[in-house]
Amino acid sequence: MNIRVLGAHNCESQKWKLVTLLVDDALAIDAGALTSSLSLEAQQKLKAILLTHQHYDHIRDIPAIAMNLFLNSGNINIYSIPPVYDALSTHLMNGELYPNFLEQPQENPTLKFSAIEPYKAEQIEGYSILAVPVNHSVPTVGYQVTSPEGKAVFYTSDTGPSLAGCWEYVSPHLLVIEVTAPNRYEEFALRVGHLTPSLLKRELIGFQELKGYLPQVVLVHMNPSEEKEIKAEIAVVAEALNNSITLAYEGMQIHL
Ligand SMILES: [Zn+2]
Ligand SMILES: [Zn+2]
Repeated sequence: MNIRVLGAHNCESQKWKLVTLLVDDALAIDAGALTSSLSLEAQQKLKAILLTHQHYDHIRDIPAIAMNLFLNSGNINIYSIPPVYDALSTHLMNGELYPNFLEQPQENPTLKFSAIEPYKAEQIEGYSILAVPVNHSVPTVGYQVTSPEGKAVFYTSDTGPSLAGCWEYVSPHLLVIEVTAPNRYEEFALRVGHLTPSLLKRELIGFQELKGYLPQVVLVHMNPSEEKEIKAEIAVVAEALNNSITLAYEGMQIHL
């Protein structure tokens, strides 16, 4: 399984893009940097998009890829929880801001949405996909994606602490998890459902106690302005846990 980080941050500029992962050029997870990172051909080759939650930085490129596919007679499957469908059709593609590609063209909508049920593994395009709810300010699921060869990545999406319930359901080789801000923003992180390096450390200790191992850890959703500080604090955590924890960057590739 090949995982490409199309976007690794929570803000966008010419250097940073919003969080989006690409698995084997077939599955996209979240859509903050889909159209700006992929050629039209690569967009047309996508088999499915998994969305974790309704926040704008994670769904932003859905209308844009829908228009690209519509104009080229294509369509694509989208999987997520029902609140994400509601947000897309009520706010982003409501017929005023943009056409509702979830329902149009009537005979063959460009976006084919399927609701995914948490804790119930589903076969999607040859991968086993398990949605697991995490602790964020709106309903959010992380996804464990397991390849036909049995390699697994778990991407938490945006989450705050208290992931012990989550760890019970997943056994990834690679954990892609968020750290949005450095330790001095702990109060903010707890309030809005994000992690800092020290909050991450506690979650990883919980993982190790429960599962008896630690997976390779890659971080996303960093605030670019605080990234140096986050990196220094993460180095301390990685050393304390004696585990690989690296900050993702746009274009990063991970082979499992
Ligand atoms: Zn969010
Ligand atoms: Zn976010």
